[in-house]
Amino acid sequence: MSRKQAFQFLELPRQMPHRIPVELRTSGDWGELYGKFGKDDAQYQAGRCLDCGNPYCSWKCPVHNAIPQWLQLVQENRIEEAAALCHSTNPLPEVCGRVCPQDRLCEGSCTLEEFGAVTIGAVEKYIVDTALEKGWRPDMSHVQATGRRVAVIGAGPAGIGCADRLARNGIHAVVFDRYEQIGGLLQFGIPSFKLDKSVIARRREVLEGMGVEFRLGVEVGKDVSVDELLAEFDAVFVGTGAYRYTDGGLPGQDLDNVLPALPFLVQNGRIVGGRNPLGRPIAGWEDQLSLPDLNGKRVVVLGGGDTGMDCVRSAIRLGAAKVTCAYRRDEANMPGSAREVANAREEGVRFLFNRQPLSIQDDGTGKVVGVQVVETRLGAPDARGRQQAEPIAGSESLLEADIVIIAFGFSPSLPAWLAAQGVEAGPNGRIVAGGTDIDGRERLPYQTTHPKLFAGGDAVRGADLVVTAVAEGRDAGDSIARMLLV
Ligand code: FAD
Ligand code: SF4
Repeated sequence: MSRKQAFQFLELPRQMPHRIPVELRTSGDWGELYGKFGKDDAQYQAGRCLDCGNPYCSWKCPVHNAIPQWLQLVQENRIEEAAALCHSTNPLPEVCGRVCPQDRLCEGSCTLEEFGAVTIGAVEKYIVDTALEKGWRPDMSHVQATGRRVAVIGAGPAGIGCADRLARNGIHAVVFDRYEQIGGLLQFGIPSFKLDKSVIARRREVLEGMGVEFRLGVEVGKDVSVDELLAEFDAVFVGTGAYRYTDGGLPGQDLDNVLPALPFLVQNGRIVGGRNPLGRPIAGWEDQLSLPDLNGKRVVVLGGGDTGMDCVRSAIRLGAAKVTCAYRRDEANMPGSAREVANAREEGVRFLFNRQPLSIQDDGTGKVVGVQVVETRLGAPDARGRQQAEPIAGSESLLEADIVIIAFGFSPSLPAWLAAQGVEAGPNGRIVAGGTDIDGRERLPYQTTHPKLFAGGDAVRGADLVVTAVAEGRDAGDSIARMLLV
């Protein structure tokens, strides 16, 4: 029965699920920060939705979830129907409910913003976790096998989104990944306090139940060639992500105790997860990173995106005495989610805005002593409308540090084995997909310059979000199905 009452949004404030107390987080708890709603809390929070008639939340959600409709189903305790509706637009709803920057997406455009937006992400997580725990699985009974087979390169959000749609269209999807588990950056990047790794293991089981096949620990271009895939499969989807490290060219960046962000997070994630820390090397970096002990150290993280926030919050959990995030623009211009910044602050991270790093300094023997920074002010906007950070002469100072983590971001790069197939990329390394070819022929959505090769996610968009990669993978899967099933 519905718990909704008129003006429920006034009577009941917005409330997130309970969080792990800050004392536990700062003493090394790696559990997910947010707990799960109980049934009553989920119904009350869902009942705050006004059903305003113009669901800005759905428009702003990159997969266009039917949010008001599944909020209504939660109020009526029709959780399995709500889960089916969630999956109709989003192949990874329980993941997006956890890691989307909702403050910039669905919740940021909720009509109730002034009164506290509906906790859309937390309810999405509640629906899908509850249904899956109860044994609900996507209904595939109506799907008829077509005999078509598609290879998916990369088991990240884009590859998973594509494989889900292919399976729902009766196409056998075989997903290849160089790593031993699915998830891409969900597994090997995002820390467990944002996304518990059991969520990914469960999703793998769901996908396998839908008929998706995974061939893990297989690197395309090395263990199997793309020629072999093109010969064996009807089409190939490329969801290989963006792993080219943005090189700030900082003097001193090669010193010991200066760590690139992703290997730091991946290696730490493996240790936290109890996996062999000397497992398979991280592609793009030749050797495994051995992590220095952060306990009692002063750590400076350079960069203000999601990766930077994950680094500062990991450093706190690793016992660092002082953790500082230095970012060259102001807080309003930080690329990371405001919620993550607030969580980091609460855990004791200090933020220094308008500071641009100039060099990493050592004591003359190779021991890091700090980062030389200069203050900045925001100047004229660049071509993308983003204000540039301009250094203020004479404002240089040393930010003391024992360990520096560089989190400047990533971009894609076109692998030679794709270039050899005639697949084109822009100067920024992003694979060209969709649009029109040089003869004026319309390509299918997400089709590359090779007709059998499709691509999506970070490899096409550049480093972005889980939900945008899911959306592209999903739509590419539909596009491939349209091509194969006409
Ligand atoms: P990926 O997730 O990178 O997956 C690509 C997969 O392809 C990988 O598994 C890789 O092993 C595989 N692969 C690559 N080459 C080959 C090959 N030759 N053969 C076989 N396999 C191959 N987004 C959010 O929305 N919220 C967040 O909180 C958030 N936090 C982040 C934190 C960090 C540290 C980072 C780095 C990113 C974060 N992001 C976040 C961004 C998000 O993770 C990515 O945008 C998303 O994972 C991109 O999905 P993808 O499938 O395109 O690529
Ligand atoms: Fe919001 Fe992300 Fe869920 Fe869309 S997928 S409703 S943006 S949490």
